[in-house]
Amino acid sequence: MAEKMQFQAESKRLLDMMVHSIYSQKEVFLRELISNASDAIDKIYYKALTDDQLVFEQDDYYIKVVPNKEARTLTIIDTGIGMTKEELENNLGVIAKSGSLAFKSENEAKDGHDIIGQFGVGFYAAFMVADEVKVLTKALHSDQAYLWESQGADGYTIVEATKDQVGTTITLKLKENEEEENFDDFLDEYQLKSIIKKYSDFIRYPIKMDVTTSKPKEDNDKEFEEVIEEQIINSMVPIWRKNKNELTDEDYQNFYQEKRYGFDQPLKHVHVSVDGSIRYNAILFIPENRPFDYYSQEYQKGLELYSNGVLIMEKCPDLLPDHFSFVKGMVDSEDLSLNISREILQHDRQLKLIAKNINKKIKSELKTLLKNEREQYEKFYESFGRQIKFGVYNEFGTHKDLLKDLLLFYSSKEKKLVTLDEYISRMPEEQKYIYYATGDSIDRIDKLPQTEIVADKGYEILYFTEDIDEFAIKMLVNYEEKEFKSVSSGDLGIDAADKNEDNEDEVKENKEIFTKMSEILTGKVKEVRASKRLKSHPVCLSADGEVTIEMEKVLSMMPD
Ligand code: ADP
Ligand code: MG
Repeated sequence: MAEKMQFQAESKRLLDMMVHSIYSQKEVFLRELISNASDAIDKIYYKALTDDQLVFEQDDYYIKVVPNKEARTLTIIDTGIGMTKEELENNLGVIAKSGSLAFKSENEAKDGHDIIGQFGVGFYAAFMVADEVKVLTKALHSDQAYLWESQGADGYTIVEATKDQVGTTITLKLKENEEEENFDDFLDEYQLKSIIKKYSDFIRYPIKMDVTTSKPKEDNDKEFEEVIEEQIINSMVPIWRKNKNELTDEDYQNFYQEKRYGFDQPLKHVHVSVDGSIRYNAILFIPENRPFDYYSQEYQKGLELYSNGVLIMEKCPDLLPDHFSFVKGMVDSEDLSLNISREILQHDRQLKLIAKNINKKIKSELKTLLKNEREQYEKFYESFGRQIKFGVYNEFGTHKDLLKDLLLFYSSKEKKLVTLDEYISRMPEEQKYIYYATGDSIDRIDKLPQTEIVADKGYEILYFTEDIDEFAIKMLVNYEEKEFKSVSSGDLGIDAADKNEDNEDEVKENKEIFTKMSEILTGKVKEVRASKRLKSHPVCLSADGEVTIEMEKVLSMMPD
């Protein structure tokens, strides 16, 4: 009879905590066990680097997941380094003790940074889904195998056992289903496959599973039969670790679709590999179409965050600034300090650095698109231009300068979208301002009496048809030292129209009628006067001060 060993007192409490509160989702137990298996294989790999007796044959190393519905067990097999009796006691008997962390510090020089484990708690995640866990293991260079067994908080036993191959086999006896929890999911091929894909797709060793598939019969290819076939579930080499030169546009598009970043084709991708004070890889996509909920409260921005190929967070919002919230993709870094559940980041310093870097990359990618592929950029702008304008409006200070040359507006010249740069470069020398006109549509703006005098001078006018346009531009104040000026503003900088605008005589002559008009329009206009700006139109409205008529409209619609 095996002697029952007690977990240390702290460990008992910790185990209880593990099972009930550390992880937000139970399915991560599989991520943790597979990560451990991968670490165990890595350890053989690192040992082989310095041990001539040891040859690392890639094909000998794998992880296998075996569900058994009848027995209600799930088994995870690895051909890794295994554990001695002592290691079983130390690493699985003491919670929060990480053999992997110790291995990493012993082998620092040999570059063990691919090893995932560090906190010594992941293993116990198994108790979230199992009421009994068995670990059968045989260590490298050892003849004796051992069986570790535990039903949770009341301790564990270790007995001698037999096992042919070096490595570890962990068998979970799954809990009975509870009202809101269906542990059968973890016996289901399809569910298991998707959990493995989700969290462990880029584990560097094959994760195998026997999968039932239906195949045409050998003697009659019209009939199908069910066959069980061993498949490799994970893709192993993450696309972002591959050499950019070896990847085609199609590879990136497939990745975009596989990851369900969107249902469209991405307009553009950026593959970033940074190897400086912070190391990270990222693949970023600029989608072509706007998701249907993009401008709603429901839309959540964010990038997938991986630590060393293992998914940590599905949507990390801190990686993207609001003005680029449309960007999809992922970031993988080995330099993140994670908290104990490996779901949240401990310090956000690294994350901030990465985010800053990514912001710059996206900006420069959009600039290149604008410069070299105008049509594509305009497509992008149609989907997300409004967000860029919101960016200029909201993030005054640092970001508006970053964003201002990404802006496009329709202009009176050829009725096309133009950048502010293009506008400036065509300005006649004497033109003082960048003129714009606001209205519901291009057509309606064209009919505004106020545009006439500016257009007559041959000056280009920007058409602001979106409510945000003028607000954004007000934040900029000027562009390349040229101030923005509404065509309906009192002071246009065009001689004939400005100053002495009110012709004294005309005012006197028509005093009566103007007074009458003012009376009728009380509360609607401040005053009625004669104007020199009008050409073919009999009357126009003009605004006093900074807030134009269009802005007043928007402001009056906003809730107080
Ligand atoms: P961590 O992985 O953070 O170190 P875990 O609780 O997941 O913590 O695992 C504790 C320790 O148990 C590991 O560091 C490792 O030494 C050992 N271990 C766990 N699973 C295996 C395995 N499959 N093969 C060999 N050693 C293992
Ligand atoms: Mg672990």
